[in-house]
Amino acid sequence: MPTTEGGEIVDSTQTAAQWARIRGRLHSEVGDVEYRTWLRQMTFVGLEGEEVTVHLPTRFLRDWVSARYGSRLNALWQSENPAIRRVDLRVGGAMAPIVSGSVVLAAELAAAEPEAPPADLTAPEDRADAKTDLAAALDPRFTFDGFVVGKPNEFAYACARRVAEQPSAHGFNPLFLYGGVGLGKTHLMHAIAWELTKRNETAGPVPLVVTYMSAEKFMYRFIAAIRSHSTMEFKEQLRNVDVLMIDDLQFLIGKDNTQEEFFHTFNYLVEAGKQIVVSSDKSPSDLDLEDRLKTRLGCGMVADLHTTTYELRLSILETKAARAGVPVPTKVLEYLAHKITSNVRELEGALNRLIAHANLFGRAVTLEATHEVLHDLLKAHDRRISIDEIQKKVAEHYGIRLTDMSSARRARQVARPRQVAMYLAKQLTSRSLPEIGKRFGNRDHTTVMHAVARVNELMERDGTFAEDVELLRRLLES
Ligand code: ADP
Ligand code: MG
Repeated sequence: MPTTEGGEIVDSTQTAAQWARIRGRLHSEVGDVEYRTWLRQMTFVGLEGEEVTVHLPTRFLRDWVSARYGSRLNALWQSENPAIRRVDLRVGGAMAPIVSGSVVLAAELAAAEPEAPPADLTAPEDRADAKTDLAAALDPRFTFDGFVVGKPNEFAYACARRVAEQPSAHGFNPLFLYGGVGLGKTHLMHAIAWELTKRNETAGPVPLVVTYMSAEKFMYRFIAAIRSHSTMEFKEQLRNVDVLMIDDLQFLIGKDNTQEEFFHTFNYLVEAGKQIVVSSDKSPSDLDLEDRLKTRLGCGMVADLHTTTYELRLSILETKAARAGVPVPTKVLEYLAHKITSNVRELEGALNRLIAHANLFGRAVTLEATHEVLHDLLKAHDRRISIDEIQKKVAEHYGIRLTDMSSARRARQVARPRQVAMYLAKQLTSRSLPEIGKRFGNRDHTTVMHAVARVNELMERDGTFAEDVELLRRLLES
């Protein structure tokens, strides 16, 4: 059934094609195992106004997908159809128990189970071939050799090296690596594992058992073990390892029984003199975990990976370009290091795109080609608009005082522009609702939410107003 959306006719075949593309993108972004485990059971239900509804069969899956992939889903939908502002993830079809706890989780998982069991349940480590399992989980590029060291990461690197050389050394257990997205936490953990695997090959009769797992996989395994009444085996397996690495520990949050299990395993291993390495995007004290677990996590070595500097970014690019064997002019590398400051993953992605493009078309990498190939990416990075700028432009446009953006005045002639400014702040910056509220005279995040909804509504009803807001947006973006 065709629906009208922002003056455009959106028919269901078009939407279906968009959804198929989004699924495809997600699949390639997260990889097969993750996709099959968490995302395959999403069902597109409908598009209404600016909201898309997607169903998942259980509450557990819904919460999981929402926490882990919600914003990505939003972004992907928006890139397919800019009119879409929200993706509503709902529990659809199957029952949705309200009580939490191991039994219910297990039941939920059983309901969520696809026809064939997810790949990792039949993984070979169940047949005690821990080595192949580990190798399959490790990225061959993530070695110490492939890690470029600079001021922001030298401490974390040194700690990781140390643990790889001598696991369970005093003062380095547990090793807690933390830092923002894409700064090299996973890379360093894999590097430790590779190093130990390499050593195992030349070592004597007793090789070290190394296990690397993401926190989500840990949870998933644990839940699967509950389901198949094999928690004892699961615990035994974990307790037999010499080095246990758990990546992205922040995802263990709020899952009571897995947290509990992790805590016990953790204590047991540390007390038995086994090495633990964990990573997280937050420091131990900032993690949303039980206090006793936080204390435990912070009692070994805590090393943070700082945001990159220009020098580090440049040297990473130089190393990777040299490795790819494609000549990239220094000017281009400097340009990228200057422009893409967010994280190493994006930096790498940009360079890979350039190199792929050059290979594909048999053309040299030049600054012009860089502008062309990375047009959309660079534009996104240019568009770092500040809330100050937005407030200033909007106040100017409507002829009100800048101070009224944060004043308590509620008269329509100041309240409306203020709402427009909040709306634009939400659209054009990556600030959260509470952060935006704070900048507008310490207002509550619900006020911002209301403003965004109100402006959307008005834009739909009032063409002149919509043009006005669009004009402001273009002014700010230019
Ligand atoms: P995190 O786990 O912290 O989110 P990753 O370890 O996955 O980040 O790193 C993201 C990408 O950036 C990976 O491809 C990784 O190899 C690369 N990377 C990060 N830091 C470095 C570095 N110092 N040297 C080389 N590559 C790096
Ligand atoms: Mg990581």
